[in-house]
Amino acid sequence: MTWPQMLSHLQEIDLELERIAARQKEITIEIQDNTELENTRKILKQRQEEATQARQAQETLEFENERTGSKLKQADTKLYSGQVHNAREVADLHAKVNSLKHRREQLEEQLLDAMIEREAVDEQVQEAQQQFTTAEEAWQERQTTLQEEQEQLKTRSRTLTEERTALTPQLPPHITNSYEYLRKRMEGGIVVAHLKNQVCSVCGLETRLAIQQKVRNQEETYCDGCGCLLIK
Ligand SMILES: [Zn+2]
Repeated sequence: MTWPQMLSHLQEIDLELERIAARQKEITIEIQDNTELENTRKILKQRQEEATQARQAQETLEFENERTGSKLKQADTKLYSGQVHNAREVADLHAKVNSLKHRREQLEEQLLDAMIEREAVDEQVQEAQQQFTTAEEAWQERQTTLQEEQEQLKTRSRTLTEERTALTPQLPPHITNSYEYLRKRMEGGIVVAHLKNQVCSVCGLETRLAIQQKVRNQEETYCDGCGCLLIK
């Protein structure tokens, strides 16, 4: 292999290593991002709290209703026991029974509303639970896929690095130095251009005859347009 061929190959390796590094960065960010899962978790927690409140509201009303029921029973029993003779007391008992009946009617209505509300909230909990489970499964699956991709990238990166280590010493040192210098200055990317029909493959500039001659002779030379190292 001539040094321009090796240099071209070195650049291919470096460009692929760059793409791998960029992808690894993306994966790291995506693996840490669980916003969607956390959102569904938050919604589920909120719905569960609402369900607890709805159940407590229903229980409070049930308790109150039961208590009112037994008070009513007591008052009713007393009223018809035949033990109360005092007209004033009888009238008071009647009033009490009526008031308790009215209270119980109110409570039963409220209780019905509370039960309807609770059922609705329970349904919302189930829905939120389903959404959370779906999100969790999707997240888990995505994590596995990303971890697998990361492993593949790591392996590929190792192979490329080994290849690079073996290739670099075969190039003329001044070419390697120039190449590394350019890559550092350009912060990566393409620094080696091919000359095709006298035109630079990177910037499209038609090169001077002297440069074309140098490229043909495999001498170190650069494009006047983009500053890339030129090879055939
Ligand atoms: Zn150029």
